[in-house]
Amino acid sequence: MTERYDLVVVGGGLLGCLTAWMAARDGAHVLLVDKDQVNQHASGQNAGSLHFQLEYRMVEAGEEAARVAAEAMPLHLDAAAMWARMEDEIGEPLGVRQTGGLMVAENADQVGMLEFKAELERSWGLDVRTLDRTELDAVAPYLSRNILAANLSALEGKADARIAAPAVGRAAVAA
Ligand SMILES: Cc1cc2nc3c(=O)[nH]c(=O)nc-3n(C[C@H](O)[C@H](O)[C@H](O)COP(=O)(O)OP(=O)(O)OC[C@H]3O[C@@H](n4cnc5c(N)ncnc54)[C@H](O)[C@@H]3O)c2cc1C
Repeated sequence: MTERYDLVVVGGGLLGCLTAWMAARDGAHVLLVDKDQVNQHASGQNAGSLHFQLEYRMVEAGEEAARVAAEAMPLHLDAAAMWARMEDEIGEPLGVRQTGGLMVAENADQVGMLEFKAELERSWGLDVRTLDRTELDAVAPYLSRNILAANLSALEGKADARIAAPAVGRAAVAA
């Protein structure tokens, strides 16, 4: 017998599982296929870092390149909000902890870059502050004395890469 689907998702990493879950939740009849196993590749092997600040490489490429990269900030903000509600929506723990993330500077040039970056990110609505060493000592006293300053984004944190995609996959099956 031939079965028909509204959507066939190829790849059961986090992105495929999320796509399948969202479509099924919204009423679509979905098939998720993977050549190996759900979460076997990058989604199950990564550091689980929820990072919403611009990456260093985006700012090191110059101010114009940073401004172009910052145009994706609405997606970063959506992602931050989505991670914050996802455990409730999925109904399982995903190991989400949004307790803040730091990007550090080891010299004056990097401090200048972080300050420029923070201002650009704030203009797009991301809450980022540049902490000097004294402020940093209160937040992360364990950091090397070589660190002069850091940008803190309170929305950043971690998810558990070992459990996130399989949990979303189960939610897709349930939906
Ligand atoms: C070492 C490392 C550290 C990382 N750290 C972070 C981090 O801290 N934070 C962060 O946000 N991101 C991080 N990333 C990136 C993140 O892991 C990926 O962006 C994310 O997992 C991609 O998800 P995905 O579902 O697209 O891909 P994958 O998890 O790779 O899933 C793709 C799936 O597609 C399947 N597939 C491929 N081809 C076919 C085919 N022809 N037919 C059927 N199935 C197929 C594969 O078997 C696989 O299961 C890191 C990546 C790596 C490698």
